[in-house]
Amino acid sequence: MKKRFFTLIVIAYAIFIGIGAVQVNAVSEICFMQNQQKEVLEIYQTKKEIALPVLMYHRVFNGGHKSSYIITPKQLEEDLIELKKAGYIAVLPSEVLAFVEGKGTLPSRPIMITFDDGHYNNLHYALPLFKKHGFNGVINVVGKFCEYATVSDNRGKPASSFLTWNEVAKLEQSALFEIGSHTYNMHDYKPRFGIRRLEDESDEKYYEALKQDDTRLKKALKEKANIETNVFAYPFGAYCGNSRDLITGLGYKVIFTANQKINYIKQGDFEALRWLGRINRESDWTSKQMIEKILN
Ligand SMILES: [Zn+2]
Repeated sequence: MKKRFFTLIVIAYAIFIGIGAVQVNAVSEICFMQNQQKEVLEIYQTKKEIALPVLMYHRVFNGGHKSSYIITPKQLEEDLIELKKAGYIAVLPSEVLAFVEGKGTLPSRPIMITFDDGHYNNLHYALPLFKKHGFNGVINVVGKFCEYATVSDNRGKPASSFLTWNEVAKLEQSALFEIGSHTYNMHDYKPRFGIRRLEDESDEKYYEALKQDDTRLKKALKEKANIETNVFAYPFGAYCGNSRDLITGLGYKVIFTANQKINYIKQGDFEALRWLGRINRESDWTSKQMIEKILN
């Protein structure tokens, strides 16, 4: 009887050990799968195309008139919360460029957030919200607007001021923003609608006009905010036949259009960076509707 009892104990113990071994195996199998997944993810991040949605914002303040280019700080905060929930991680132009150059990786679900025109409210509202929620972005400034803000009395007003050169420097120093060019003085409907070529303008004259304006912007950015940039956004999203080549010739590597499309980025494909589409964040969208637009 005692012997049978002992045998039963031994069998029970063996079963217990067996289950333990299965459990250990199961755990190591999960670890292995996780490693595999990590490896797959890294291959994806470095070798394959990555979808890169770029959002386009302009002004952020309360009490503005209804416009496609004005949203409230509450809307911006909700956007950031929803983007984070959807797994998006914000990336800067320098990170995307490094990835294309083969010098860096990107998160599996990157998003780029851009603000055009250089409004003071980007500093007033977007910077603290970006700090709070762990985002970063791009501000494409118009040199003439920054100069005006710097020398005029219209400063520090969320509804109407542009960024001064000091404020532009402050944004860059925060490391949460990179600064791009939106031209020095070509953000006008006339005479050429942004940087578009004039009728009957020769190649040489057109390039000369772009170069002159660009030299002025780069000089001001360097002298007044200690910034060098290779990021450019077409005013009004307007361009013509050879604009891209000419802007590239001026040293720009990351060029934003206002074409509503999702971008696909891969190593070695510098062309894609010179032709980035952006989704304008319409003010009558909810944050969830915005996410649906970039997921499609
Ligand atoms: Zn603009």
